[in-house]
Parts: sequence; C-alpha cells; structure tokens
Amino acid sequence: MSTQRKAVALISGGLDSLLAAKLMLNQGIHVEGINFYTGFCVEGHTHAIRKKDKDKPKRNNALWSAEQLGIKLHIIDIIEEYKDVLINPKHGYGANMNPCLDCKIFMVGKAKQWMEDNGFDFIITGEVIGQRPMSQRKELLPVVVKESGADDRLVRPLCAKNLAPTLPEREGWIDRDKMKGFSGRNRKPQMALAEEYGFEDYANPAGGCCFLTDKNYSDKLVDLWQARNKKEYDLDDIMLLKVGRHIRPEPHYKLIVSREEGENKFLSGYKKHFGHIEIKSHNGPLTLVDGKLSDEDFHYAASIAARFSQGRDADSVNVKVTTQDGEEKTYDIKPMPASEIKQDWYV
Ligand code: SF4
Repeated sequence: MSTQRKAVALISGGLDSLLAAKLMLNQGIHVEGINFYTGFCVEGHTHAIRKKDKDKPKRNNALWSAEQLGIKLHIIDIIEEYKDVLINPKHGYGANMNPCLDCKIFMVGKAKQWMEDNGFDFIITGEVIGQRPMSQRKELLPVVVKESGADDRLVRPLCAKNLAPTLPEREGWIDRDKMKGFSGRNRKPQMALAEEYGFEDYANPAGGCCFLTDKNYSDKLVDLWQARNKKEYDLDDIMLLKVGRHIRPEPHYKLIVSREEGENKFLSGYKKHFGHIEIKSHNGPLTLVDGKLSDEDFHYAASIAARFSQGRDADSVNVKVTTQDGEEKTYDIKPMPASEIKQDWYV
C-alpha cells in the first residue's frame, strides 16, 4: 500500500499559491498551508481602517485560500526574525524596499524546517518563472532552492514543466505531466485555471503580497531609518507607516495626521505613546508627533495640523497639545496657509 505523501504549501493569500496547492491536492497529496506574518502583509489591516476601502473584503486572504482548498493553515509570526532579512538583504532590494529574493529564501528555509519537524515530504510554492522581476527570474529560482536548503524537495507546480524534475517527481509521488509550464508576466493562464477550478473573488491577481513593494510605503520606511540614523523598527512603527499623512517639517520630528474618522480612531490607540495635537474648536484630525519637540516646535506643528481641520480658513483654531511626557496645553493658533506647507515635507 502506498503512503500518502504530505506537502507544506506557502500560502500568501494570492491566486498563484492557491492554484499551486490545488494542483497538488488534485494529485492526492495531503497539503497543509503555512502563512508567514512579517507585519508588512497587505491583508485586511488598512481596509479595516479606512472608509474609502469599506467595500474591500476585510478578510485574511490566506485563511480564505485555505478555506477554498479545505486545508489546514498554520499562520506563523516571523516579525522578529524577518527584521534581519529586511535590514540586511544579501541579494539587495527590488524596485522599492522589497527584499524579495532574500524573503523567498528565508520563507522556503523556514518551511523546510517546518516540513522536517512535522514529518512532511516536500514544499510547494506558487512561483512562476519570469512573473516577478526580482525573485522569479529563471536564473534565480535555483538560488532559492540552494540557499534555502530545500534542494529538490521544492516543487513549483505552476511552472514545474519548465524546471528540472524534483525528488517528488522522480520518486513518482506526483506526476510531472499534471503540473503546468507557465512563465512570464501574463496572468491569463492562472485566471483560466482559477475559472476551471471555480475560484472566484480571489485576491489581487497581479498585486504584490506585501507593503514593501509599494513606493510610498517604502519611502516612509527609508525616512524613518534616516531620521533614527539606524535601520531598526518595531511592529508599531511599521503599522503606523500604513496610516495617515506623514509630514516631516523638520528633520527631528514627523507628524502623522489622520485623514478620516477610521484613522482617527486607529491613531487614538497610540496617544499614550506619542505627543499629540487635537483640534478642539473645529472638526479636525488627530495628529501624532514622532520626535522630541520644543514648545516652539509644538506651536509650529499645531498650525500645520490646524490646516487639515475644518477651521483651516478661520483666523484662529483652538488646539490641545499633549507632550511626550503627558503635559497638556491648550491655545489658539492661526492655521498655516496652504502655500506655506511644502510639498517636500510629505514623506
Ligand atoms: S512581495 Fe514582500 S512578502 Fe512577497 S516576496 Fe517580496 S518581500 Fe517577500
């Protein structure tokens, strides 16, 4: 009697990993998913905060994928370990601050460890040759295989026919002919396969799976590191980079100005940890201040914050300022004219 072989699939929540796992399930493989949580994942977070995103599903796409597949999903927090991948990527960054190749090597390496610890036989990823410029170039796929230590236990069912046979194929655990030979940036083959399997409403077929591929987000991360003179971050830092307008009027401080009610509520959760500015006489944003501010800085910052309130054209606006040490002051201030808010303050 043949033993049922077991594979662990990297599930990002996107279409490719969903299809790759499905191809293996269809070959009678027992599949369980792993989703690595780095803190940069695009999942539900901002959709849950902002009103303009209210129509986007507030779901965890990795869990949704697992549900579609009927498999168990292990969500593994790698926030701490991931810092070294992002801060010192051996293979460098992509177009933005995305260290995709190092990230893939790291995640496949973690999956390999998990595979060994749990008695599984091989690893599945949804990679497609040539799909993404940095990590999926044909000459780089072997780098992931080698540096992750997964060797020929790494199966990429969506492009397997373009690659050398892996151990599971050679051993006859899976049939190479039933896998795919996709390549390039064209998403149509994946979409057709999704339709064949009846998958609808899957997440952003062409989008990246993390905020590090986003230019605006990456700029804010670089600004944070420059201001600290050090490449370091914690989970709150990287969550806050996803929310509000980030304005740096002076090198030694930054303002995070909420853009709407949902962000106001979210930023309120950080009032204890940051100095902040609230507009009292008019409807207006909550502004967190990141840095050490003098009284003079606070006045200047409050006039900027007032600019974003409904009192922007008033002669004076009443503001409450709370310093980093919890000291509160209330005063009237003239909102800064729009012409004085410099474009290059926006991070
Ligand atoms: S997009 Fe983000 S999560 Fe995906 S491989 Fe690149 S760095 Fe890693």
